[in-house]
Amino acid sequence: MSDGLLGPGPHTRVRRLPKKASYDAGVILAILDEAPFCHVAAVVEGRAVTLPTLHARDGRTLYLHGSQSNALLKAIVESGEACVSATLFDGLRLARSGFESSIAYRSVVVFGAATLVGDDAQKRRVLDLFVDAVLPGRASEVRAMSDQECRLTMVVAVSIDEASAKVSAGPTEDLDDDLELPIWSGTVPARLRYEAPVPSRDGAMASGGVPLPESVRRLLGQQ
Ligand SMILES: Cc1cc2nc3c(=O)[nH]c(=O)nc-3n(C[C@H](O)[C@H](O)[C@H](O)COP(=O)(O)OP(=O)(O)OC[C@H]3O[C@@H](n4cnc5c(N)ncnc54)[C@H](O)[C@@H]3O)c2cc1C
Repeated sequence: MSDGLLGPGPHTRVRRLPKKASYDAGVILAILDEAPFCHVAAVVEGRAVTLPTLHARDGRTLYLHGSQSNALLKAIVESGEACVSATLFDGLRLARSGFESSIAYRSVVVFGAATLVGDDAQKRRVLDLFVDAVLPGRASEVRAMSDQECRLTMVVAVSIDEASAKVSAGPTEDLDDDLELPIWSGTVPARLRYEAPVPSRDGAMASGGVPLPESVRRLLGQQ
């Protein structure tokens, strides 16, 4: 595998519709960064489980976090390996037949070694990455994490050893025999959109009187 490629490797060769596959690190990492959350798979107490969770990336390492008693995270640390997937929904691809209809998406599957992050300073740095992964710039606006909060949180590093992307995009691919059918065919693009912020009304310092932070203003301005 060259530096710019993360696959195909023993686990990541896309066999179904390989023309949609990409192993380009730039494509894969961009999808991971844009995805608001991921799904992590593991065998927990003898059963296959997949759960949604947040992720944060630093270079070729993907971080996961949760409570110290998180069963899924404990399972991947114990087994030493993880499989993480993330998906972006880009819209509808409506063909003239149900069979050829599908959705537009960009998805990623990552396989890599999973290890516990034990070092306190490293843990704090990664937990700030999580806050910024949800909303860029937010980590510098919130109060610092307490020792207790840090102790209660487990952080797991998954090295992005091998990964694949699958990208479904473009016009629908109707069968030639269907092209003259009087049935509407086309795409309906979709994207995540944030609505007007709603300030918290709790506490002595209700947020209504506090100006909207830079991070949220930037988020809304980008739409
Ligand atoms: C939102 C969404 C909805 C989908 N709906 C369906 C559906 O209803 N039916 C269906 O059959 N398929 C669907 N797919 C495609 C599905 O993810 C699989 O690619 C497909 O089912 C082939 O499975 P397989 O086990 O034969 O994959 P294989 O091609 O044998 O998988 C081999 C390797 O290819 C890579 N790979 C496979 N799929 C993906 C992927 N999506 N993204 C990144 N890497 C991948 C992985 O590394 C995997 O280990 C959907 C995908 C997305 C993102």
